[in-house]
Amino acid sequence: MTGGGGAAVALTIEKHPARHNMPIYYARDRARASVMTILGILTYPDPRLEQPSAPVKDVDAKVVRLIEDMAETMYQAPGIGLAAPQVNVHKRIIVVDVSEERNHLLALVNPEIIERDGEQEFEEGCLSVPGVYAPVSRSARIRVHALNREGKAFEFDTDGLLAVCIQHEIDHLDGKVFVEYLSRLKRERIRKKLLKQQRQAM
Ligand code: ZN
Repeated sequence: MTGGGGAAVALTIEKHPARHNMPIYYARDRARASVMTILGILTYPDPRLEQPSAPVKDVDAKVVRLIEDMAETMYQAPGIGLAAPQVNVHKRIIVVDVSEERNHLLALVNPEIIERDGEQEFEEGCLSVPGVYAPVSRSARIRVHALNREGKAFEFDTDGLLAVCIQHEIDHLDGKVFVEYLSRLKRERIRKKLLKQQRQAM
């Protein structure tokens, strides 16, 4: 997902296992960022974005490395969320950071929404749909179950922008891009516009 926010970068390696029912955040590891890879992001209407992703069986070193590369790719874009299928890896992994300071990285493996409540509308954007923003209605509050990047299961409740972002990214894992919520006419217009841009960029 795309959104506002400054470009400040955390310089320390910090972990926040923190309070009960709070997501486990990771600060950006800037020392390692230099060895990380910026991954290519698929652009709508690439059919690979419609392919559902498989659950991660084992949170091993390869998965951790992918999380780090995805985070770096998201920060560089810049975006506030990125799902593995957007970088053409069809595994159920998402990274999110909705903080102003860009130092509250939330990495979720096999995320699932186990409770939802209420409704909110938010103007969404997506790194795979550059330059397009449109209001989407989603659940206002969600309870999420996931594995963290140590492979440990945890649950938390959230709302507001973080809830929007997590729902948007989980949709990607199911092969769904946010433009699917728009009218057919709008979607068709977006599809044509992006295809034209892609042709011109070639
Ligand atoms: Zn997206």
